[in-house]
Amino acid sequence: MPYKKLFYFLNLHKGTFLLGTIFVILANVASSYTNKLVEKIINTLVGVINSTSDAGMSIQKEVFVFLSYYIGLTILSAVFTFLMRQTIIVASRKIEQKLKDDLYAHIQRLAITHFKNFPIGDYMSRMAEDVGKIRELFGPAVMYLVNMITTLSVSIFFMLEISSELTLYALLPLPFLSFFIYFFNIYSLQFNKKLQEEMSAMTSVAQESYNGIRIIKSFTLENKVLQTFSMISDSFKIQSLKIVKLDSFFMPIVSLLMGASILLSIYKGGMLVIDNHIQIGGLTSFIMFVNRLLWPVMSIGWVASLFQKGKSALIRYEEIMDMPLESKNGMTAESNESLKGDIEFKNVSFTYEETGIHALKNVSFHIKPGERWLIIGKTGSGKSTLAELLIKFYQNYQGEILLDGKPLENYSSSFVREQISYIPQDVFLFSDTVKNNIAFNTDEYIEVDVLNSAKDAQIHNEVLQFKDGYDTMVGERGITLSGGQKQRISIARALIKPSPIYLFDDCLSALDVKTERQLIEAMNQRDSRSTILLITHRIFNQLDFHKVLVLDDGEVVEVGSQEELMLKKGYFYDIYKKQEMRQVEN
Ligand code: ADP
Ligand code: MG
Repeated sequence: MPYKKLFYFLNLHKGTFLLGTIFVILANVASSYTNKLVEKIINTLVGVINSTSDAGMSIQKEVFVFLSYYIGLTILSAVFTFLMRQTIIVASRKIEQKLKDDLYAHIQRLAITHFKNFPIGDYMSRMAEDVGKIRELFGPAVMYLVNMITTLSVSIFFMLEISSELTLYALLPLPFLSFFIYFFNIYSLQFNKKLQEEMSAMTSVAQESYNGIRIIKSFTLENKVLQTFSMISDSFKIQSLKIVKLDSFFMPIVSLLMGASILLSIYKGGMLVIDNHIQIGGLTSFIMFVNRLLWPVMSIGWVASLFQKGKSALIRYEEIMDMPLESKNGMTAESNESLKGDIEFKNVSFTYEETGIHALKNVSFHIKPGERWLIIGKTGSGKSTLAELLIKFYQNYQGEILLDGKPLENYSSSFVREQISYIPQDVFLFSDTVKNNIAFNTDEYIEVDVLNSAKDAQIHNEVLQFKDGYDTMVGERGITLSGGQKQRISIARALIKPSPIYLFDDCLSALDVKTERQLIEAMNQRDSRSTILLITHRIFNQLDFHKVLVLDDGEVVEVGSQEELMLKKGYFYDIYKKQEMRQVEN
């Protein structure tokens, strides 16, 4: 229920909102009193004009007093209006910041599975648009609601004071007006929702075509894409025009009904003045009060739609906040010691819930500290899944995974990820300098570390060729790097912090054989005590690995040293031969 959250945030700043409400009431009362002043001065003037005696001097004084009070009250009302904005709107901005920070922190700590289920653009729009709408709920919506209620009640209070009969006449058109506004509001919301949908369809078409601009150009699909876009933008225009048409009904009808209200007041009020039930000044200020009703009545629909939009934004916001965070299971006492690097899988099976794909089936192996293993298998054989299980991206596997002989569940995710230098299959560089991309996961590093890990990752010489060397910008706003360069920068990132376990997921795929060998040799020289798992879909010639594990369709089909597997003439041998043949063909 989103209202619970609503009250939570209102409560957070309840002092400010209360103060704001008091300012709204004071601003209203102050400006209402100007009407009362008008009533008084007119009555005095009429009295003076009707009396025969010479009262010129006293009128001058009265008018002067009237003017000073009028100006004083107007200034007072302006000050209170200013303070009202300063309290309520400022509080809403503070709430907005808290909403954003909370959402961002929550998204950062979501389990990885939620990212794959949900389009990234969706998270973005919730962060930007929905949070904005929730802010409007706490800011303008609350402010105008309070203002509306006080203006209506203060005005009607003064109107009743002048004449209850006249008030009845003046309010006669109001039911029709609320009826009209109610229906207008329903249509307006409906039309605007449709427009919002058209809008997001348009942005996603645009976004996709910018992302895929290379494909579009190479297939000369520009015109086709343009056609799709202009079709969508055309229906956006049609929808916008519908809204314009609807909106153009609003003011005339509201003015008509409010005009009717004033007309009735003058007609009935005139008769009451003639019958001497009220004075001419009373009627004047009465009509001024009727005029004051116009604005709150007009804003009813708008405030209602702000609440409506805010409410659905809050529901969408809560949808993310309700997603469970990554579990923080595991002992924290462990965190002080580092792992030795012993990894054991015992009958591990894993099924992706969303697709029902059995990615791993009964996988068992044991890697001792300091061993280097090659894990090889075709695309889709479950290699990445194995790596992601090890760094606790997924928790609900069957069987046992042991690190240093203790179940993986005993360690917290953050501890495991600190201990395992993992390079994912899909490299990602931030829009930052080469240096900061490499030193990304260390708080304190020295230049030498960056250089050394870049050298080991075989990227150093290339970085030196870049315009600004290690200060060159990469990522979306920087220079365009080749796939291999990106891979090596992300390898350097993993190498900068010495770890007991290195886990490379197919991150050498874009490297040539020579670079690959140099890289592995550099790794070997680095720290012989670290355990290394190199995942690949291709074989490395003449490289020293303790064991090779072959995965096929989620199953371990062969484990052994390179020589053993070659002699066995099984899967590994087949892959080796095929690769050799391809190299010969090339
Ligand atoms: P590899 O790394 O060996 O290419 P993966 O571990 O990525 O293999 O994939 C193993 C199987 O699991 C494949 O059939 C793949 O389609 C499936 N799979 C991988 N990731 C996911 C995911 N996030 N959700 C559902 N199925 C997945
Ligand atoms: Mg993979």
